[in-house]
Amino acid sequence: MTDVRVRFAPSPTGFLHLGGLRTALYDYLFARHTGGSFILRIEDTDRSRFVPGAIENLIESLRNLGLDFDEGPSAGGACGPYVQSERLDLYHREARRLLESGHAYPCFCSSETLAKMREEQQAKGEFVKYDRRCLNLSPEEVQARLERKEPHVIRLKMPDGRKFAFTDLIRGDVEMDTAQSDDQVLLKSDGFPTYHLAAVVDDHYMRISHVIRGEEWLSSTPKHLWLYECLGWPAPLWVHLPLILNPDRSKLSKRVGDVSVESYLQKGYLKEALLNFVALLGWHGADDREIYSLEELCREFSLERVNKAGAVFDLAKLDWMNGIYMRKLPLEEIASRALPYFHAAGIPLPEQDVLLKIVAAARERCTLLPEIASYSRMFLAPRPLTPEEEELLGTPQAQSVVHWFADNLPTSEPLPKEELDALVKTGMAELGLKGKDYYTPLRLALIHEPHGPELPVIFGILGLERAHALLRDKFRR
Ligand code: GLU
Repeated sequence: MTDVRVRFAPSPTGFLHLGGLRTALYDYLFARHTGGSFILRIEDTDRSRFVPGAIENLIESLRNLGLDFDEGPSAGGACGPYVQSERLDLYHREARRLLESGHAYPCFCSSETLAKMREEQQAKGEFVKYDRRCLNLSPEEVQARLERKEPHVIRLKMPDGRKFAFTDLIRGDVEMDTAQSDDQVLLKSDGFPTYHLAAVVDDHYMRISHVIRGEEWLSSTPKHLWLYECLGWPAPLWVHLPLILNPDRSKLSKRVGDVSVESYLQKGYLKEALLNFVALLGWHGADDREIYSLEELCREFSLERVNKAGAVFDLAKLDWMNGIYMRKLPLEEIASRALPYFHAAGIPLPEQDVLLKIVAAARERCTLLPEIASYSRMFLAPRPLTPEEEELLGTPQAQSVVHWFADNLPTSEPLPKEELDALVKTGMAELGLKGKDYYTPLRLALIHEPHGPELPVIFGILGLERAHALLRDKFRR
């Protein structure tokens, strides 16, 4: 193990969404590439947004995707517990240190007072920030109010007019000043820390070497650097990942249920395709290559190849990539992953060898797993013919095709493709029919669809015995 230690730190507010998956994946890839450790930490300090079951969901999603973490809630590790609500004493201890050193102060302002302050500042066109009225209370007054157990928060005293310069491994040198920095709340009145205090304290005690997180946290970095300084700790390295954008370049919202990883998997996207696709949301390899297995990504991934610019989420590309993996993964694997969709659609399962033939044919033309089940319907649970199709099939011309095949199709397997091709040609010549006149009655008879796969595929899947039965079933004279 190297000293590289990275953490994925989701808040358990619902399902894992694609943006979260991208962060988790980059953490994982970076840890595996460098021989470091990948840590899962649950940031559940915002009790109002806590969703029961979300932690279990997150862990299960990561496991399903094969992103194993080395330390975390269920995996254990030397720096646990890995759930922030179980680490409250630690945050209180560090907040006390900040109070003692004068870097933090209690603030007794009520939410009404703060709302009024905000309104007044907005009305005057000023930057909205806490006006520090509680910083100016006398030590005696503070003491008295604390003794009266007045509800309060603990705020960080930000330095005035200070510039924070740091190097972001993706963005390069960044400089930000504190003019726009509020005196951040560190501990809330419910005794829970805010993200800022908890993340800094945990990143320190968990010995995180690289903080890899979304670009939306870039503006918080000066506050975090200041916290490290006040607490007397060295800061980690910073890695802010580019935003993920909709095709119209608006920000991809994580609250849209449709972007949860679970919903993509349920729709029948393959985890291999999803991981490959998400890996390319901001990262690219040394050449134009686009298809990577997880192992290959672990080998090739580097932070130097992560872009600064926002990554556009292109669903058409995900579909294309899923199609590639539908054909690339082992046939048995695709078949077994398609099974739930057969069950859901109420399609009876055939013998395994027939199933594999259907899946082999289907995956050539399907994008998503459920399409395999829909494709199989014409073989396993064909719909009834419509009155128009019945009429067509009853015409003397269609009947001549049906009867010719019933008379000439061999009855014993196997029927090699060349022989079938020859048979199809002979039938055409003897009946004097071609194109639609010839193929449509045949397809209607065999699969109850006017269009469909090539005849060798149809015969191969049905088998000669069933094909004969279906043809005979369509005798109308
Ligand atoms: N809990 C934060 C989030 O879910 C984590 C941000 C970070 O990685 O520091 O966005």
